[in-house]
Amino acid sequence: MSTVILNRAQEVLARVFGYADFRGEQAAIVEHVTSGGHALVLMPTGGGKSLCYQIPALLRQGLTIVISPLIALMQNQVAQLQGFGVAAAALNSSVDTESSREVYFRIRQGTLKLLYVSPERLLMDGMVSFLNDVGVSLIAIDEAHCVSQWGHDFRPEYQKLSVLAELFPDTPRLALTATADERTRAEIAQVLGLTEAPLFVSSFDRPNLRLSVVEKIDPTRQLLRFLSAHPGESGIVYALSRKRVDELAAKLNEAGVRALAYHAGLDSQQRSQNQAQFLSDEKIVMVATIAFGMGIDKPDVRFVAHVDLPKSMEGYYQEIGRAGRDGGPAYAWMCYGLADLVQLKRFIEESTAPEARKRYERSQLDALLAYAESAGCRRVPLLQHFGQHFAAPCGNCDRCLHPVQQVDATESARQMLSAIHRTGQKFGAIYVIAVLRGAQTEQVERFNHQQLSVFGLGKSWSEDRWRALVRQLIARGMVEIDHEGFGALKLTERCRPLLRGEQTFQMAKEVEAEAPVRGKKKRAEPGNTVSKSDPLMEALRVWRKETATEQKVPPFVVFHDGTLLAIVAARPKTLSALAKISGLGEKKLERYGDAVLRIVKAGD
Ligand code: ADP
Ligand code: ZN
Repeated sequence: MSTVILNRAQEVLARVFGYADFRGEQAAIVEHVTSGGHALVLMPTGGGKSLCYQIPALLRQGLTIVISPLIALMQNQVAQLQGFGVAAAALNSSVDTESSREVYFRIRQGTLKLLYVSPERLLMDGMVSFLNDVGVSLIAIDEAHCVSQWGHDFRPEYQKLSVLAELFPDTPRLALTATADERTRAEIAQVLGLTEAPLFVSSFDRPNLRLSVVEKIDPTRQLLRFLSAHPGESGIVYALSRKRVDELAAKLNEAGVRALAYHAGLDSQQRSQNQAQFLSDEKIVMVATIAFGMGIDKPDVRFVAHVDLPKSMEGYYQEIGRAGRDGGPAYAWMCYGLADLVQLKRFIEESTAPEARKRYERSQLDALLAYAESAGCRRVPLLQHFGQHFAAPCGNCDRCLHPVQQVDATESARQMLSAIHRTGQKFGAIYVIAVLRGAQTEQVERFNHQQLSVFGLGKSWSEDRWRALVRQLIARGMVEIDHEGFGALKLTERCRPLLRGEQTFQMAKEVEAEAPVRGKKKRAEPGNTVSKSDPLMEALRVWRKETATEQKVPPFVVFHDGTLLAIVAARPKTLSALAKISGLGEKKLERYGDAVLRIVKAGD
């Protein structure tokens, strides 16, 4: 490793961005790419991919091209870079002729360092030869998983990027993604000609995310309770359908939580308006389907809540990754129940996708179920899915903070298996539970199931408790949901040892419905000893909002929350004391230093 390059990189990191150290693999990647190497980078959302090409761009001679799939994403990045005083610009369909002419001019002049473009724009007639004339020092392909036909973000234009190696034979290529899937990785390497390039895999752990999963009972009420612990914070609520999104957004507003909606059913103007408002506003909740997400690199999203079980582990991890990108404490909260599982199973089985694809989707859902039903630290099953071992406990998930007591439920588990068997493996959980609890319904009488030996055996257990047991049986592969049988529960081979009495069955002790939210009560937040209600914090926020509005940029382009909190904690009195705050590079110090010092002084 070249220490000369590393020292220069460290200097730029501190001077331009105001950060003291590289995170994880960043240093190795920056060194390799600055030296002219190709690379493929896998890093979780919020892990810090951008600096991996931004710093080499500043260290290498000439222009760096960043290929990005979304206009919003480009604008956001360009605004943030300009905030740090870096010469960056974007070319895409939203840029008018005059502005693009200026961009071309700056490229020819050699004053532009980073150019963000869409793939179609890059491959347009004339663009490649123009760029080859001026010389391109680095090509970064962001969101590189868009090349994958399997993924949910597939973009045909990204596949055309396979010509890059030929068009720019002497330019290093750096592909970056948060999708860790083996298959996707191979596809990226193949399409972008990076099969020989080194692969940099970061830890997929995001220690600042507090993970918790609660059982779905009354999701709206549960969500409101969760939100009441996060007043005035900005966050995202994901729901599965457009209808649910609209309903929830309305209910939140009724309850006094400022919320916007986002889904593919809204017209594109409304969508971009809501997205822009979410980015520029500090205290707002976005209720959305998964249509909302890529391109949201708002650093101060404090929580991501799922009111329905997401479709895949990959998707879930990208979604929760949108919380806490600034490294500050953030929450990933999910509320899910058996009905979600039945519904997602139906989505998979009813789709017309090829069998291989369905197999893949089933395995994604299984991984998510293992996570949701985990009795121990949630980071273990989560990171296991990304092929990484995690040594529990993490101390920052509901299971670690409130360990659940395991109790023996062998008897009840056998009763459930037996009830499924005796009712002919033809019924869903609701019905089987009704039989176990001895419900005298019309349906029970029609099938004469009150005659069964299991009828009424499980009266002492609540319906919710039985459902929890069914989810556990499914998570452990002893029972499956039979789609052909309209969601009927079926026994699998794996339940045999339990039925034969060769195995016992442990499950979490019943917790009261209120319990899961307990952890959300005020506790000292890790790394955040400054009170957000400090008057100085409020004064700085007001100043930041005004400054941002004046410049027509989102507030985080001026300063991240973490930077404001650090200022409040340190209460710097001089410019040199202020310069030590993380996130304050030379440009920001020059631009805002005096104003910030004045506010700090006024607050004392
Ligand atoms: P990704 O693209 O991987 O999702 P970003 O590049 O947007 O993540 O970085 C996430 C956040 O982390 C940004 O707000 C960025 O400023 C911050 N960040 C990245 N690297 C560092 C670092 N070495 N020190 C401090 N903050 C960092
Ligand atoms: Zn844990």
